[in-house]
Amino acid sequence: MDRTRIVVIAALLALAGVALPLATAVHLAQQRAVAAEQRYLQQLARKALDRAQQSFADARSVLREMNATPLPPCSDAHVRLMRALTLRNRNVDDIGFFDGDQLACTSAGAAEPGITRSKDDFITADGIGVSLDMTPQASPGIAMVGMAQGRYKLLIHPVRFADVLAEPEIDLAIALSDGHLLGSLREPLPVGVRRLLLQTGKADDTLLYALERDEHLIAVAAEPRSRVLTPLRREMRWLLPLGALMAALIVAVVAWGLRRRLSPLGELKMAVARREFVVHYQPLIALATGRCIGAEALVRWRRPDGSLVRPDLFIPLAEDSGLVLPITDQVIAEVVREMQAALVSDRDLHIAINLSAQDIRSGRVLAVLAQALQGSGIAPQQIWLEATERGFMDADAARTTINRARAAGHAVAIDDFGTGYSSLSYLQGFALDALKIDKSFVDTIGAETVTSSVTPHIIDMAQALGLQVVAEGVETQAQADYLRERGVQFAQGWLFAKALPAAEFLAFVRSRQAAAQGQAGT
Ligand code: C2E
Ligand code: CA
Ligand code: CA
Repeated sequence: MDRTRIVVIAALLALAGVALPLATAVHLAQQRAVAAEQRYLQQLARKALDRAQQSFADARSVLREMNATPLPPCSDAHVRLMRALTLRNRNVDDIGFFDGDQLACTSAGAAEPGITRSKDDFITADGIGVSLDMTPQASPGIAMVGMAQGRYKLLIHPVRFADVLAEPEIDLAIALSDGHLLGSLREPLPVGVRRLLLQTGKADDTLLYALERDEHLIAVAAEPRSRVLTPLRREMRWLLPLGALMAALIVAVVAWGLRRRLSPLGELKMAVARREFVVHYQPLIALATGRCIGAEALVRWRRPDGSLVRPDLFIPLAEDSGLVLPITDQVIAEVVREMQAALVSDRDLHIAINLSAQDIRSGRVLAVLAQALQGSGIAPQQIWLEATERGFMDADAARTTINRARAAGHAVAIDDFGTGYSSLSYLQGFALDALKIDKSFVDTIGAETVTSSVTPHIIDMAQALGLQVVAEGVETQAQADYLRERGVQFAQGWLFAKALPAAEFLAFVRSRQAAAQGQAGT
């Protein structure tokens, strides 16, 4: 998958991973808070209804008792009884006795003349006349509820109907089932709550409310929805940024990790850890006989998807990062594993292994090689080592490694000769076995270019130094013929074979040997 896409997807996942649970938590908290508040309002409405029922019950019993008294109307004893009942009943604020429709006396004594009985606004099912907005004589400022039966009328303060302890934001009200408001805890009653009681219009969705009813009464408890949501919204205001911050942090970490893993170096590290390197073998041909005398081991990186990556694409990075050392180790192990049988059965065969400049400088590769060869039956002479000019930069270290390698029995070749700055005379300071002429010089053979004159000189001087010569990148028979005539012993190139997997290389060796024998026989 494309790197940026992976990073973007990871980022989105991280954002969603943090924002979603947070948003869900806030949403759930909101729902729970609303549900809890709803239950609370329901309780309050229930209490208000109970309270109103109690007021009605008290009024009924007082009216029954008064209507049944045999005491002479407005006598001292009669007034005393009215006062006693008023005092005893918290819900009854005053009692009045009517003579016809004239108020004759109240619990306070004889009434002022001229007060007439107001009409009932409605009559309850059990025959009690209810009048709203009564203004009592004693305290004219307050509108009372009147409840009348027979010759008596009780005055009840409207708050008695909804006299329940509640928070200041909560509105409580009691009405008759037809919507007539009996009383409310607070004045004035908000229009929304009034509408709820009258059951007209659409319910106000800024209100959270609960209704309780019996056959005569409706109780409502309501409060502004904002009372519940405000604290939650306040929490959301810091929870969401916190979530976003966390998501950003996760995104950063994920992106960082992905970049590390997806970077070429990260991938190469993984490849080394997973031992994803395989070796192909490019045959080396003795120009005089046409026999295959061995091969150069060329590393390839087999990606998990099966594709092969050429060394030019990862060896430079491996060299810069030091990963080339474990890669060399893996190449050595592969060569021993795949070529052991062939090398043991044919002592004339050799495999050339490429060493990096770091392998040459540290010399550590020799111990790895010795360890790998131990007990394998492969002779050290069957392993050649190739080093490029860059490996000779640290002359002392290179000399030490080369001498140790040769002392162990390996042949050492200078690779890509002519592409760097080193002169043949510089090479005299190193004890080498072979020189590989770079493909760029082989390419000039037959072509009339400036460098074409250089190739024979290199061959001559290499021979003068006693080095065996291997020509690289031989693609035409003309090149091969020229090189053979010039005394070059070995060649490799697509004229003979490309780099081959182990089994194909071994098949190639067998066919070449058979052909050479056939030729020798004729
Ligand atoms: P090199 O050591 O000079 O290897 C020869 C390269 O030339 C190989 O490319 C080979 O496939 C290619 N070649 C051979 N004959 C012909 C031909 O006739 N025509 C053309 N056009 N090309 C030909 P390859 O395998 O891609 O290797 C590239 C370079 O990677 C090597 O150059 C070497 O410097 C490096 N390398 C390969 N294997 C290893 C290794 O195991 N360790 C280290 N340190 N470097 C390696
Ligand atoms: Ca080489
Ligand atoms: Ca080369």
